[in-house]
Amino acid sequence: MEKQLTELKTLLAEVVDLQRSASVLAWEQQTYMPPGGGAARAEQLATLEGLAHRLFVTDEIGALLAELHPAADGWDYDSDDASLVRFISRKYGRERHIPSELVAEIARTTALAQEAWVRARQAADYPMFKPHLQKVLALRRQQAECLAPYEHIYDPLLDEYEPEMKTAEVRAMFAAIKDELIELVHDISARADAVSDEMLHGDFDIELQRAFGLQVAQKFGYDLERGRQDEAPHPFCTSFSSDDVRITTRFNGSFLPSALFGTLHEAGHALYEQGVAPDLARSGLDTGISLGVHESQSRLWENLVGRSRPFWQHFFPQLQAAFPGALGAVDVEAFYRAINRSKPSLIRVEADEVTYDLHIIIRFELELDLLTGALQLDELPAAWNDKYERYLGVRPENDAEGVLQDIHWSTGAIGYFATYSIGNLISVQLLNSAREALPNLDADIAAGEFGALLGWLRENIHCHGSKFTPRELVQRVTGGEMDSRPYMRYLREKYSDIYAL
Ligand code: ZN
Repeated sequence: MEKQLTELKTLLAEVVDLQRSASVLAWEQQTYMPPGGGAARAEQLATLEGLAHRLFVTDEIGALLAELHPAADGWDYDSDDASLVRFISRKYGRERHIPSELVAEIARTTALAQEAWVRARQAADYPMFKPHLQKVLALRRQQAECLAPYEHIYDPLLDEYEPEMKTAEVRAMFAAIKDELIELVHDISARADAVSDEMLHGDFDIELQRAFGLQVAQKFGYDLERGRQDEAPHPFCTSFSSDDVRITTRFNGSFLPSALFGTLHEAGHALYEQGVAPDLARSGLDTGISLGVHESQSRLWENLVGRSRPFWQHFFPQLQAAFPGALGAVDVEAFYRAINRSKPSLIRVEADEVTYDLHIIIRFELELDLLTGALQLDELPAAWNDKYERYLGVRPENDAEGVLQDIHWSTGAIGYFATYSIGNLISVQLLNSAREALPNLDADIAAGEFGALLGWLRENIHCHGSKFTPRELVQRVTGGEMDSRPYMRYLREKYSDIYAL
């Protein structure tokens, strides 16, 4: 089988090269491309992504997989080769049902939709974006139809981001946390005065913010020889190989947490990608397995580490030195409470840990209704605003702080949002396992030492790339299934302490 395996890897390397080249263009579109470049960029992305897909779903790859798959059953399950055949067979089985022309059309439409979204968000003008969203939604529906039969039309779309996860499981997950979250929001609102975040609003020099955020990201282990940071309208992380993993940030000169925690979040994604084993390069296994697992890494660094007391014991004096005017007279405990202040708000990426998942539940419910046709696009902004009022008690005054705030739908990422909450849940389970292995974890964090934690994550999660499904990965690390209880326990304990509930 050695010959077939080599042939398969050679063909896959070409596919990966094309996909990663498309990622470079997509990154550049978000960071440096002048507004006029949008139409040509859409064609370039359509060509590259269509070509990558065509090269992947060939009969040649199908025949190689048909030979390799039975043989691989006898190989060591954990080996790179067995994992490759398993993972690629599953992906091939899915992708061969989707016409390459549709893949290209989605690339073209979403590249244009992103440009329209940027303009519409600036103008807070949903009708400007609606025709694009209509096209994107129709194409994603069409893609889901290619993958029929399904239990729910959301299933095949979710599967693209979170392999093997079903809509029914997401519903059960949200049912398990929703009421408790709303109750916790309620309990905190009765004690709202206990925490002030006044010192986080003010005048914060953007260059100083940039330097501080990057310095912490590097302390975490983000290697700038193999990465870089740029600005973008919506922060993200993208990988061209484990040796070139880039993050973007959005700066706000008058509110300190936006860029700071955004940077720590994206650095968490970047650490995952930089930690993929070099042996997996150009195989298709050379990236994080799912967006849920990815988000578990970003939220772990952003929140479980970056919003913890030990972390700020170490870093607060440095932050104070950078911003003596705003923070010089603030004590570390007041700062810790301020950055963890929980208050229902409109913008998801700036939401605190308690309210965050309610933002996700809102998008998940809206997406289900859009996909089934229960909700029409004309009704979307009002439905969005109503849900914000019902779940969080706040109502957007315009579409920029409502339905236009996230880039995702313009990129075609419908079926994606649930992975944020999956990530939150898993992040606590994984950190609990890390804690058992690293009894000095809090002392390390308080000393600004992250090598042991990163080493543990590298060994148990990052190095595997896409070798194991999210379920397998959670099982291997925690010995159990994905579970919302540790997450809810973490939130309840942390916020009971902060708000003296
Ligand atoms: Zn993220």
